Amino acid sequence: MKADLAGLPDKSTIGPLALEFENWAPEDILAWVVRVYGHRAVLACSFGGPSGVVTLDMAMRIDSSLPVYYLDTALLFPETYELVRWMGARYKIKPIRVHPRLSVAEQAAIYGPELWKRNPDICCAMRKVEPQLAFLGTFEAWISGIRRDQSRTRAYVPVIEWDTKFDIAKVNPLATWSERMVWTYIRAHELPYNALHDRGFPSIGCRPCTRPVAEGEDLRAGRWPGFSKIECGLHVSHDSGDKTRLTEDSSPV
Ligand code: SF4
Repeated sequence: MKADLAGLPDKSTIGPLALEFENWAPEDILAWVVRVYGHRAVLACSFGGPSGVVTLDMAMRIDSSLPVYYLDTALLFPETYELVRWMGARYKIKPIRVHPRLSVAEQAAIYGPELWKRNPDICCAMRKVEPQLAFLGTFEAWISGIRRDQSRTRAYVPVIEWDTKFDIAKVNPLATWSERMVWTYIRAHELPYNALHDRGFPSIGCRPCTRPVAEGEDLRAGRWPGFSKIECGLHVSHDSGDKTRLTEDSSPV
């Protein structure tokens, strides 16, 4: 292992680092993050996908005091909340609950009921992106479980990158892994996982915006059914033309 930098990576040094990390094992990447960032790094886990469970397990084996958080939109499945409790008990941690400013009822009062049926981009911006933006303000790096094989929007994700949306480093230790490798790890370590995976849900988000997928469908095809949208905005940089960020003049719809 190398990757010895004088300080924390920045926008100009992170590209060469990504090339160096390309052939590293995820555990080595996570150990590097813990060594370099300490508690200035935070691990995001949605508890709605197998990759998050694997990343969390690997990180907890390295440093169980690493901060862990999840975005609670207040619209998650009961199985997801159950997995938060299981994993918390397993590693003796309390994942930080990051939540939107508005309750679902308050959002409905301002924007109308079931905004996700009419404008999921604004709903995701309010219930996911903005809370994460506020939360990550005190950190220098965030760790995500996304992988290149999950969708065309993630096909070129680097192992480490500068996240222009949150203006900190973003580390994707499992970027090069496949779905099969993730499940092999889960079975080998007898990890708990979201019970909905056994009922045809490979990727699980909010209740109103997630359906099971058919054999052969894209892993994220069950997200936002009826819309072309396949990303909530957390994993899309401003530079890519993403429009999920709520702007000052966004009006109720
Ligand atoms: S996934 Fe659906 S319900 Fe959840 S924040 Fe996005 S649009 Fe709203």
